[in-house]
Amino acid sequence: MHYISTRGQAQPVKSAQAIKKGLAPDGGLYVPESLAKVPGGRLQQLAGCDYRQLAQEILAAYLTDYSEDEIKTCVMNAYSSEKFDHPSIAPVHSINNQLHVLELWHGPTCAFKDMALQILPHFMSLAAKKTGEEGEIVILVATSGDTGKAALEGFKDVEGTRVIVFFPEDGVSQVQKLQMLTQEGRNVNVVAVQGNFDDAQGGVKQVFSDNEFNRRAAEKNFRLSSANSINWGRLVPQIIYYFAAYNQLVSRDVISLGDKINFVVPTGNFGNILAGFYAREMGLPVNKLICASNSNNVLTEFIRTGEYDRNRNLLKTISPSMDILISSNLERLLFELTGRSDEKVRGWMNQLNEDGWYKIDPQTMERVQHYFWSDYADDNQTLETIKDVWDKHHYLIDTHTAVAFKVYESYLRQTRDSTKTVIASTASPFKFNASVARAVLDRDNVQGKSEFELLGILAGYTGWPIPEGLRNLDKKKVLHHKKTSAGGIGRSVSEILGI
Ligand SMILES: *Cc1c(COP(=O)(O)O)cnc(C)c1O
Repeated sequence: MHYISTRGQAQPVKSAQAIKKGLAPDGGLYVPESLAKVPGGRLQQLAGCDYRQLAQEILAAYLTDYSEDEIKTCVMNAYSSEKFDHPSIAPVHSINNQLHVLELWHGPTCAFKDMALQILPHFMSLAAKKTGEEGEIVILVATSGDTGKAALEGFKDVEGTRVIVFFPEDGVSQVQKLQMLTQEGRNVNVVAVQGNFDDAQGGVKQVFSDNEFNRRAAEKNFRLSSANSINWGRLVPQIIYYFAAYNQLVSRDVISLGDKINFVVPTGNFGNILAGFYAREMGLPVNKLICASNSNNVLTEFIRTGEYDRNRNLLKTISPSMDILISSNLERLLFELTGRSDEKVRGWMNQLNEDGWYKIDPQTMERVQHYFWSDYADDNQTLETIKDVWDKHHYLIDTHTAVAFKVYESYLRQTRDSTKTVIASTASPFKFNASVARAVLDRDNVQGKSEFELLGILAGYTGWPIPEGLRNLDKKKVLHHKKTSAGGIGRSVSEILGI
């Protein structure tokens, strides 16, 4: 199977090349030349598979230049009991017979990024070998929190790779900061940037586009790459858990094989929910994909009106992993919904680049609304929802998941759709404990407490254990001390690589 660019002006490549490159050379995103289909009978066979078997089946359908053995090794390394603290890897928690929660945070960093970033490094390491790469692949990451730690954990000690993470010094939570600064591994580097996330991201982008820098790096056999969610190697593993969720509902007799279900997904860069769309296209019985936004509600507006408008200020919310104004993966959806018109996609993306705005045609709009429904929740609603879900169901959710719960409530009220529904839960409540504690505990218990004290307080209150990855974080040794200004990011990479 070959991969083509959504902008139609790049050579088709095999999956190893698409994964190594990340972005296509014409600025577009790589998509498979055709989507693998799962016929009805096959769905029944898949229903009996556990997470690892399912992963092998789905990955093999897309990574056709990887051998069966290679895929198996990647899967076994990534989705092991050593890395994930639940035997189902992505277990479904049932609130009641109607509503279910897919917990995507049982990996080492307690957020859903692990589902893909635990396996991408193994794909990447093999991709280097397959494409005759002799040098080392250097992954540069600018992070607002979750991606950085997940990339560090994923790439840690993976042969042929190095990872350098830049995070805004005062733009991440205490937990997130210590998760990164205490990271162990021979090939990992973490640098604090004096500035905000945009500064960090801008600095990293500049390094990627600096020809002189890339030439010097290539001379020393370093090749820069990225691990963000535009990489096909990050998207394809996310398809697996949509099937895994469905299987769990079938095996519990909540649904019968063939019944449709809804998914609600807290959305930022449109990667997670797009994987749900691909699962549906492959043949998974899905009714609606419900896109939940926070106050940065560009996507809600788009799904309702067909107009994408990024000309507004980025708001800082308590669901920071969704604070984003350009949802890159939407480009892949538009490609599919226009019948794969690279011409239309090119036009809209150019317009977005130049004017920060575009509007899709009525026919594409109709298709968007056929598959998707969207609403958003602000910070107050998010906090109220955490409390409400805890009080009613004795189930603690993080801020991102709470946005999805709130939006589902609004979906139910407006549509009265009785289809059984799965909410994607994207982070452990312990990871965003400051907001979660504020939502469920009395003020006196929260005020003046550090995030590390709050972890213990929440564990005591709920009776839930603190996840391994967050336990004793404040007692671990800080291993990374580098700092830079945003303008110094290039110099910082040079120093680390010795070029
Ligand atoms: C990254 C992230 C999201 C958003 O996922 P996208 O694939 O970017 O839409 C939501 N919640 C959490 C906790 C995340 O880390």
